[in-house]
Amino acid sequence: MTKVLVPLVDTSVTELKGVGPKNAERLRKLGIENVQDLLFHLPIRYQDRTRIVPIGSLRPGDQAVIQGQVELADIRYGRRRSLLVRLADGTGSIMLRFFHFSSAQKANMARGAWLRCFGEVRNGPRAYELIHPEVQRVAEDEPAEVEQALTPVYPTTEGMHQLTWRDLTGHALTLLRRGGLQELLPRVVLDEYDMPPLADAVRLLHRPPPDQSQQLLSDSGHPAQRRMAFEELLAHQLSLRVLRQRQRRLGAPRLAGNGRLQKALLDRLPFSLTVAQRRVLDELRRDLAEPQPALRLVQGDVGSGKTVVAALAALCCVEAGYQVALMAPTELLAEQHLRNFTNWLEPLAIEPGWLSGRHKGKRRVRLLEGLADGSIRIVVGTHALFQEDVLFDRLGLVIVDEQHRFGVHQRLALREKGAAGQLPHQVVMTATPIPRTLAMTAYADLDLSVIDELPPGRTPVTTVVVADKRRAEVIERVARACSEGRQAYWVCTLIEESEALQCEAAEDTASVLAESLQGLRVGLVHGRLKAAEKEAVMAAFKTGEIDLLVATTVIEVGVDVPNASLMVIENAERLGLSQLHQLRGRIGRGAQQSHCVLMYHPPLGAVAQERLAVMRETNDGFEIARRDLAIRGPGEVLGTRQTGEMQFRVADLLRDQDLVPDVQALADRLLVEHPGAVKPLIRRWIGQKVQYADV
Ligand code: ADP
Ligand code: MG
Repeated sequence: MTKVLVPLVDTSVTELKGVGPKNAERLRKLGIENVQDLLFHLPIRYQDRTRIVPIGSLRPGDQAVIQGQVELADIRYGRRRSLLVRLADGTGSIMLRFFHFSSAQKANMARGAWLRCFGEVRNGPRAYELIHPEVQRVAEDEPAEVEQALTPVYPTTEGMHQLTWRDLTGHALTLLRRGGLQELLPRVVLDEYDMPPLADAVRLLHRPPPDQSQQLLSDSGHPAQRRMAFEELLAHQLSLRVLRQRQRRLGAPRLAGNGRLQKALLDRLPFSLTVAQRRVLDELRRDLAEPQPALRLVQGDVGSGKTVVAALAALCCVEAGYQVALMAPTELLAEQHLRNFTNWLEPLAIEPGWLSGRHKGKRRVRLLEGLADGSIRIVVGTHALFQEDVLFDRLGLVIVDEQHRFGVHQRLALREKGAAGQLPHQVVMTATPIPRTLAMTAYADLDLSVIDELPPGRTPVTTVVVADKRRAEVIERVARACSEGRQAYWVCTLIEESEALQCEAAEDTASVLAESLQGLRVGLVHGRLKAAEKEAVMAAFKTGEIDLLVATTVIEVGVDVPNASLMVIENAERLGLSQLHQLRGRIGRGAQQSHCVLMYHPPLGAVAQERLAVMRETNDGFEIARRDLAIRGPGEVLGTRQTGEMQFRVADLLRDQDLVPDVQALADRLLVEHPGAVKPLIRRWIGQKVQYADV
């Protein structure tokens, strides 16, 4: 009788010996439901238990199996009671240290006993030590029976021991031997890229033979690991391409404006566009004139002038008779855009609408009516624009600012807002530059434009890092700058999550500063002020009626006062790189030299120290993004860690960046030459998450 082979992806982990309801639940929490999932759950590192290491050759940090005879076993009463055992093998000796032990354990390690131990070597007070090693009593002449493969150590969860993992993956590998894990990459591709078949790679990674380089394995640079990362990145890339293809099939309105409104705005601007702005605007206009929905990411450093480019693209859409939605991730940023757009567009007889989550009642109803009947041509708002009851007459263009805080899913939610059977064009603007390879992977469904030039007349900001015990000097410095006619920001950042407490603390800081800076006009702005109050303070700062503006991080975005050339950021160690960069982007907008003082409260952790050093070394947003990525990892940088989007099982965007060009090229090729492989690859690696792709 032949048994029909069930694919491992359809074999529930509960069919494995040792997986009862409890373990099944634990596995499920890690996203492991079937045997294939289990096999894709790769070890984080390996231990070499394949040989017994001479004690004399051990170095701190080594993990090793040793075997020797107990020379001495003693209970010590130091700061903590501990059992100390000296083990020697003729090449040297080492101490075993136990803080918890039973009398049976102690008896087991009596003087003269032969032990085999596994543990990590550390520097002890007098000699090298193993703290709480695994211990096994052996006979003096017992043959060295050791592991045949490197021992995998799995990422785990509470209640799942490494032995259980080894057991389970052992069973899974037995099933794998019978087949059930289909090779999805065409033979020619494997040959061309010199990659092992998937099943071989999986087998090797769970039980690497002792001759495999442990170094390569722990750096995840082993060909088997790269093979799996490659396939996963490929699947991801394919899913975004397929998504993109489907969207394109839906079609979008051609938005070829006549240029009238755009010209009117350009004529009124007090500056002319930079070459980079003009180039990106041209790219946008070309996109908008196509009958397929544009999906374009516009990257540009802080202050590179993305807003005006967005406004011009919006006007292009309005000229063609369609509506525009401009969406920002926070109220404050949305308000800032509204203010800019209103200033620019009112003279052109266009009044932008405004929709935030706070709007209720009549105002909201009126706005919704205006959107539905088409009388509102441009609307600025927050996530509230996604809500179901927001309907447009002829939505032609959606502009999203600060994309990295929105997910793919939200991006797609807006597609329903288009006119029947059509999608609006989408432009995404981000002020946090993302390194190119990362952008190409994270936003593979988007075209990329970069405003890689700042408007003329900006001077780079000089940044210093000082401990907060030098606060008096810093205040002195503020006094000097302001007495010379310049203006300054004092940014308060606090540990408290509560906005109320933050605002209170900013109020305190403001009154203390006003006290010590007699004669200076000190203003205060924070998130709890009413919109009108906030606006009044900002206006006074802009016209120079306020010398020093004390603020919470609400000023991170949008604020634009060229005469402000000094910024003090308190507790700078608590902020991330991109936030620091955004904040600092508020100065350096005028012709005079600007200074940023990053004040920290010691002691400074290693990561914070590195962040502040990066800020001191460079003003280049792209460089900062690269360093940020290295410090925090892609999930954090893209803001997708919480959503789980862009979380790979095997691949690591940072580590595997160099694979991206090949992955992209191969994705293109598969779509044409091996279309049959596409769907299974997506299903294998992305599974449920791509249901959204079924437009
Ligand atoms: P960001 O790209 O950070 O959103 P903004 O759009 O807020 O930058 O622009 C920053 C400032 O630069 C604004 O005051 C804007 O009016 C101004 N600006 C934009 N483009 C130019 C330009 N070509 N020349 C001079 N100033 C410009
Ligand atoms: Mg901006």
